[in-house]
Amino acid sequence: MEVLLPESIVRLRHQVQELTLSHIAPQASQTDQDARWPLHSMQALAEAGVMGLHVPKRFGGHEQGLLALAVLGETIAQGCTSSALCYAMHCVGSAVITAKATAYHEEKYLVPIAENRHITTLALSEHGTGAHFYLPQTELALSGAHYIVNGTKQFVTNGGHADSYVISTMASAENTEDGDFSCLIVDRDSAGIIWLEPWAGLGMRGNSSRAMQLNQVRLPRENLLGQEGDQIWYTFEVVAPYFLIAMAGAYLGLAQAALNATIEHVKARRYSHSGERLADIHTLQYRLAEMNIAVHKSRGLLYQAAYQGDVGDPQATNMILMAKADAADLAVAVTNDAMTCCGGFAYRENGQLSRLLRDARAAHVMSPTTDILKLWSGRLLLDLPLI
Ligand SMILES: Cc1cc2nc3c(=O)[nH]c(=O)nc-3n(C[C@H](O)[C@H](O)[C@H](O)COP(=O)(O)OP(=O)(O)OC[C@H]3O[C@@H](n4cnc5c(N)ncnc54)[C@H](O)[C@@H]3O)c2cc1C
Repeated sequence: MEVLLPESIVRLRHQVQELTLSHIAPQASQTDQDARWPLHSMQALAEAGVMGLHVPKRFGGHEQGLLALAVLGETIAQGCTSSALCYAMHCVGSAVITAKATAYHEEKYLVPIAENRHITTLALSEHGTGAHFYLPQTELALSGAHYIVNGTKQFVTNGGHADSYVISTMASAENTEDGDFSCLIVDRDSAGIIWLEPWAGLGMRGNSSRAMQLNQVRLPRENLLGQEGDQIWYTFEVVAPYFLIAMAGAYLGLAQAALNATIEHVKARRYSHSGERLADIHTLQYRLAEMNIAVHKSRGLLYQAAYQGDVGDPQATNMILMAKADAADLAVAVTNDAMTCCGGFAYRENGQLSRLLRDARAAHVMSPTTDILKLWSGRLLLDLPLI
């Protein structure tokens, strides 16, 4: 696929690949064991100058779109999936800020992001509406020159570590419809933020995906992104495409990492009674070919979807839905097969493959979830409304 990528993305990938090998992958196991937010990875990515991936060039960013996000997410995930997700959520948050940035947002957020000294993230999910992330119940009220925000966000990746949080709330304006929501930026030091329990997930343990309570949080009106009740535009133009492509990239990279680890083990393990290697067994050769085909197919779908999204192709939406659903299925299937191919070694050691298996399980529950994506994708085919 590299031959199809623009030179600028190939360069970014090369740079990120090197630091993934040198700084990110070596600490992946410890990050998982300690459920520790990957500061080392975020610092290395900042030093490499890639935090402003989606920020316009005039502020010092790379002004890249979905394809670069897919490729970099995939690259980092080959070393550490938690780190890939933390970086990806920063990128999605920064794409949302960039989309309708005012001069205030540019100076306060986009310039520091492009200068690699500000981490942001996206906090949409709430316990009450779960997988239906487009239905926030967090309340927004106008109070003079300020907004007052009350509610609780769940699963906030980079929670407690990001400098700012892009949140969704119900719209405060009286003339908006049910289900309208607004996006705002909450600064980390805003009074009234309470972080609930530390993150202790089954997988993605380095994410710090914590719950954030917002109690009477007072925000300047300038922190509103776009217009009140701008949800349709934000959801379909920015949040969904960037979030889905970011996730698909990370889960594709995870699958590639599982495949690589399996190949390595199958080549190395030799039976003492026959001298035969696992690599000599036809069933395993066949299984590996199937895993490899699946990874390549998913990469083709993802890159194509991201490209179509970047050029504004009207068919891009369904491609993007399919790409994330497929990457989630891929990650779960490939890590499962990898465990089978590597036998008791993989099961006993609780090492890389079992970590990847646990990380992969998050793919299906991250909104829009795989089942919901497939429903939406089918509805698009049938000219039915998505929701
Ligand atoms: C590791 C991790 C990191 C995350 N990071 C973030 C983040 O940074 N920001 C953020 O905003 N959110 C984040 N999330 C939250 C995520 O996007 C989901 O909102 C959350 O996982 C939903 O969990 P739930 O238990 O509320 O699911 P539920 O809503 O209880 O869903 C349970 C199951 O029911 C299914 N279901 C529900 N409704 C339907 C339907 N109508 N049709 C078919 N199936 C349906 C779902 O597909 C799912 O499989 C993260 C989640 C995880 C696991």
